[in-house]
Amino acid sequence: MGERITMGTNGKLNVPHNPIIPFIIGDGIGPDIWHAAVRVFDKAIESAYGGSRQIEWKEVLAGEKAFNETGTWLPEATLETFKEYLIGIKGPLSTPIGGGIRSLNVALRKELDLYVCLRPTKWYEGVPSPVKRPQDVDMTIFRENTEDIYAGIEFSAGTVEAKKMQDYLINDLHVEYNFNAQTGIGIKIVSEEGSKRLIRSAIEYAIAQQLPSVTIVHKGNIMKYTEGAFKQWGFDVAETEFADKTYTWGQWERTKAEKGQEAANAEQKEAEATGKIIIKDIIADNFLQQILLAPKDYSVVATLNLNGDYISDALAAMVGGIGIAPGANINYKTGHAIFEATHGTAPRFANTDTMNPSSVILSGVMMLEYLGWQEAADKIVQALSQTIKDKTVTVDFYNLMEEATLLKTSEFANKIIEKF
Ligand code: NAD
Repeated sequence: MGERITMGTNGKLNVPHNPIIPFIIGDGIGPDIWHAAVRVFDKAIESAYGGSRQIEWKEVLAGEKAFNETGTWLPEATLETFKEYLIGIKGPLSTPIGGGIRSLNVALRKELDLYVCLRPTKWYEGVPSPVKRPQDVDMTIFRENTEDIYAGIEFSAGTVEAKKMQDYLINDLHVEYNFNAQTGIGIKIVSEEGSKRLIRSAIEYAIAQQLPSVTIVHKGNIMKYTEGAFKQWGFDVAETEFADKTYTWGQWERTKAEKGQEAANAEQKEAEATGKIIIKDIIADNFLQQILLAPKDYSVVATLNLNGDYISDALAAMVGGIGIAPGANINYKTGHAIFEATHGTAPRFANTDTMNPSSVILSGVMMLEYLGWQEAADKIVQALSQTIKDKTVTVDFYNLMEEATLLKTSEFANKIIEKF
């Protein structure tokens, strides 16, 4: 007897007390971790709201299960259901081999135009980490989710299309480049609209969460009209739409050119003192060293699709790896969102009840926060943190901890639920 979540005309979600939420159970370890996670969600909601709120889960098919039951990897009905109910959650999906779909995840993001890939990265006490001070990592990544070289416009070496592209570049665009005969070509797409909507969302998030900075990570020194433009559009969006709440390094550069470095520094200090969010930028390779050397300097991060892919895995490793790395794909305009663990299907461990369900549980926490059900979200975070602190963990953490107790996936969920 659930109801639909809708988007209000004010741009805010209308969430009923009994929303229908579609879920994809996922392939490989998907069923194990989903069954553990959904019990955690339901019990946390019950404990937080005493039965006055409840999610009505609605299973939709994708991946191997869909293929076995319907003959297609991503049935139209699944897409329609996500479109209709706005918010969903999914387990990992295996990539079809030799099928027409390059990736089910990419297809879902494209169909629903989920332009933000949101990945918060923070450390939970007790989680084994390869760095000395994992507690210094507390970053939220806004990864552009629809453009870049990742959009998949590619031509295979030796094809007519690749040859046509080469001829076009040389004859029509007068590009000076000696193509080898066997050359694959990929196209990198970065638009003003795509960049601005991503960076706008990152700034709005920093404002809402009262965070000190948004760092634009790019390779604009080399790829000037794509990654360089991304940075510039980011500064533009801050300076035109959030002038009273932000100070950009673009402004700093202009003041420096006009009045010298001291004046520029003083201006930035003043902006910081009045609570403005500093919009910085950094070259991607340097960023990958800085997150190890000075992670405290970074808070919200806005970046392009491919950079975001690398950065989020590097950061996830610093705080304990992909067993505890949640994520979401969001379109803040329409409200559509699909929450998902960032790891894959780990097929070797399917049906072993051994893998860590924390990624999908924390993805659910992000979903509850998105619904505005903060109390239930807080309960889960508290209980999950305590379970890890108690060293009652699944095998991935058990192998790296001393004197820990090894739990199955389902037992780990029980330990969390016991604490509500
Ligand atoms: P993977 O993330 O599935 O697994 C890599 C390794 O990480 C595993 O062998 C395991 O040791 C560890 N691991 C993963 N999840 C874990 C968990 N919950 N707890 C503890 N350890 C965990 O990556 P892969 O092996 O490269 O990919 C397998 C399949 O998953 C491929 O078909 C790939 O396309 C797909 N994939 C799907 C998604 C998605 O649906 N979002 C993401 C990445 C990969």
